[in-house]
Amino acid sequence: MAASEYDVAILGGGTGGYTAAIRAAQLEQRVVLVEQAKLGGTCLHLGCIPTKALLESSNLFHKLHARGSEYGISGEVKFDAATVASRRDAIVNQLWKGVQGLMKKNRIDVIEGHGTMTGRDSIQVGEQTVKAKAVIVATGSRPRGLPGVEFDGRRVINSDHAVLATEIPQSVAIIGAGAIGVEFATYYRQLGAEVTLVEALPRLVPLEDEEVSKVMLQAFKKSGIDCRVNARVREVRPAEEGVTLQLEDGEVRAEQLLIAIGRVANSEDCGLQEAGVECDQRGFVKTNEWMRTNEAGIWAIGDVVGGYLLAHAAAHEGVTAVEDIAGRRIQAMEQDLITRCTYSTPEIASVGLTETQAREQGHEVKSGKFPFLANGRALIHGETEGFAKLIADGKTGQLLGAHVVGVQATELIAEPALARLFQGDAWEIGRNIHPHPTLTEVLGEAALAVDGAALNI
Ligand code: NAD
Repeated sequence: MAASEYDVAILGGGTGGYTAAIRAAQLEQRVVLVEQAKLGGTCLHLGCIPTKALLESSNLFHKLHARGSEYGISGEVKFDAATVASRRDAIVNQLWKGVQGLMKKNRIDVIEGHGTMTGRDSIQVGEQTVKAKAVIVATGSRPRGLPGVEFDGRRVINSDHAVLATEIPQSVAIIGAGAIGVEFATYYRQLGAEVTLVEALPRLVPLEDEEVSKVMLQAFKKSGIDCRVNARVREVRPAEEGVTLQLEDGEVRAEQLLIAIGRVANSEDCGLQEAGVECDQRGFVKTNEWMRTNEAGIWAIGDVVGGYLLAHAAAHEGVTAVEDIAGRRIQAMEQDLITRCTYSTPEIASVGLTETQAREQGHEVKSGKFPFLANGRALIHGETEGFAKLIADGKTGQLLGAHVVGVQATELIAEPALARLFQGDAWEIGRNIHPHPTLTEVLGEAALAVDGAALNI
């Protein structure tokens, strides 16, 4: 088949890739997207969307089952895993159709198949050769395994298996207390499973602010999750009836083991080496703030470049790369502006620096904190765990970071993130007139607390 000539070819149709394709089409680039599986990628089919759909069901079940009487609701509540799975699939399918429609609407050529770069401007997909002036690599990532331990999809699983499972184990051990570990710990525990969470570092969600980790530990312990931090896994022994984990200081047995210790880049098998694209030691493609690789004409975005492996980061990286390609630079990627969200109970969200990072970077730090316990709407929700915490530069007042742990933290983080984009000061969030009664008031109060002026505490 004849080679085709495009302005932009995108390898991988996940959130990063398809968003880049749409932006490229808007900028009147002739664009082609190569996808080997389903448009939407990990986020839509195995990650963000299906896991949050599952958590919606488990949250609702748990609230009614364990706490219904508090709200004046009684009666038997049952969890039907098959219906939960079909609701999950319906949501995914609806969004999947939406993405396919967006490709058509924007006249984006989509080629199904595994693409391999055969030069800096060419991709081979089966018999077809695609030629483009610019290539964007958006091939994503996959779950990382423990050396010597095989995923069998039954006793030893990763998040790909967990999200598609239709049965809930009675007991589960989870290795890794990052985003995936704490989200699945929440899910399984809310459905009544015995959960043991094993984390090598001294605290849960170790990338978050230390005070956030403390709240998580307290909340998880209270919910009955057995949390083992500073724990080294010596051996994993899968057997017919379950899995045994040998830790340095004890043993954990469970029906199933979920390994959630990070993800690895899909940077092999797609011709990157042949094209001369440089990766770091862990296999993530190296890029600059415009998502350019070391090779002229090749950009890379999303999980394959490392950093925060988050769909919204990938989408923004895609837009950044395309605008650079089209000569329409608007804003370079800034890691410090990426919001991080974890949908455990309690939820966690953050943007910018932790208090420790701010000090390490030489800032004189002032911070303000406000608990959900003192917020009317949180009390109405019946969810009073956690707080909002804002970190500001002591001299200039500029907002350096925001951390929320508690109810709807993932929605609340957008306000301080916008303030960071506007290079705002903490006090400006305090002056923003938050509606009452809403959870957003915790941010206003935390901002006032930075200058010792919180009103309702
Ligand atoms: P992660 O890197 O966030 O966390 C992995 C955790 O495992 C770390 O705390 C690490 O210290 C621990 N760990 C590593 N090796 C270990 C070992 N041998 N024994 C015990 N603990 C060990 O990775 P993840 O949770 O697997 O998530 C993968 C990626 O996907 C992350 O980048 C994450 O941000 C992203 N993700 C995000 C969301 C979200 O935003 N809601 C949800 C899921 C995944």
